[in-house]
Parts: sequence; C-alpha cells; structure tokens
Amino acid sequence: MDEREALGDVLRGLRETLRHHRDLGVREMTFAGGNPFPDPAEALRDQEAALQGCPRCKLSKSRSTVVFGSGPATARLLVVGEGPGEEEDRQGKPFVGRAGQLLTKMLESVGFDRERDAYIANVVKCRPERNRNPEPDEVAACNPFLMAQIDTIRPSVILAMGNFAAQTLLGLKEGITKLRGKTYPYRESVLVPTFHPAFLLRNPGPEYRRMAWDDLKLARREFDRLAPPPPA
Ligand code: URA
Repeated sequence: MDEREALGDVLRGLRETLRHHRDLGVREMTFAGGNPFPDPAEALRDQEAALQGCPRCKLSKSRSTVVFGSGPATARLLVVGEGPGEEEDRQGKPFVGRAGQLLTKMLESVGFDRERDAYIANVVKCRPERNRNPEPDEVAACNPFLMAQIDTIRPSVILAMGNFAAQTLLGLKEGITKLRGKTYPYRESVLVPTFHPAFLLRNPGPEYRRMAWDDLKLARREFDRLAPPPPA
C-alpha cells in the first residue's frame, strides 16, 4: 500500500470514529493532555460516564439506575441480555437477580468464570417497567452504546441470551428456537444465540436445558478456537 492509500485509510477510519461519537451524543472532544487512544477499560469508563443521567428515551422516566455493564474490558466473551430487571435496576449491575444466578451457573457448566471471562451487557441499559419488552425507539436510542461496547471489547464470542437480544443483534425476526444451535458472524465476533435464563427458569423442562447446554458448548468451542489460551 502506498502512502496516499495509507493516509486515505486513516482518514476514513477517523471519519467513522467521529460519526460514531456523534451518534453517541458526543458534541465536544478535548484531546489536550488526554489520550486519543484510550485503552478498552478507559473507553468503557468514558462510555458509562456519558450515559449517566441519560434522557434519550422514555425508560429514563422510570429507571433508578443506568445499568451499563460489568466485567473485564479485555473479556473474550460478551454476554448480551435484554434489559435490566428490578434487582439490576436497584444494584446497577446486569444479571444479579435469579436469572443472573442461573446465567453464572450456565457459564460455569462449560468452564467460564463469569467475573474473569465474561463482560455482561444488555440491549437496553434501563429497566423497562414491569419487565416488558423494550420498544423499538428505546432500542434505537441505546443501540450506539451497545455497539460502542462491542467495538471496544472486540470479543471473540458474543452469547446472545434470548429472543430479544438475538433478534436485535442479528436483525432477524425468527424466534430463538429457530436461531439457536448455530453461529453467526457478527462484526469482528462470532455470535451464538441461546435461551434466556429467565425463560429457562419458567420452562425448566429438560429439553430446553439440554438445548441451552448444547449452545453453551458451541460457544465454548468457538471461544477455544478463536481465543486460545496463551502458551504456558
Ligand atoms: N435479564 C436481562 O436480560 N438482563 C439482566 O441484566 C437481567 C435480567
């Protein structure tokens, strides 16, 4: 690649980054003394700070806390749920209620340590009242923040929990029973859809648990293929 082409690439990248920040609502940028290339943890902290007091959609009227996400910024596994529930809204952390406890066990069943291996986020960062499904305008308002998380963490594998996360991320209308059981290329990652733990709590039949376990094993295989452990 000659120098003109390389410069063109850099400028195109910069244009995309600036557009992305504009979509996030950033109106001003100061680079003086700051780091224009923050590390992922710092970038996530900035994104979380930008969301505090967010008024972008009607979920802001009823939420107590913006539940941004939790986990290591360097995690190779990203878990995406639907939106915070009551307990998450109270504690400000994703998946800390009953569904969260099952999620922890599901991850453990294939050897993932939730705190060490996974970053956990939701499609919408504020609790929909009475745990209703988030509405399209709410998803659209929050989407740049989820995309920013994905592009910052650049996980190897994204585990999309339930109908809502899988359909929203993939832009498909099929239900989770149809979507699950396979992998999808997604941005720089591989996406694996599976049942939401809250659905598994409501439908504890062994057939759903077995399918979920198959999906988790699939996610684990993809994870091991794409993010092999560093040589000893
Ligand atoms: N359900 C979700 O989808 N996300 C949470 O954070 C908690 C419950």
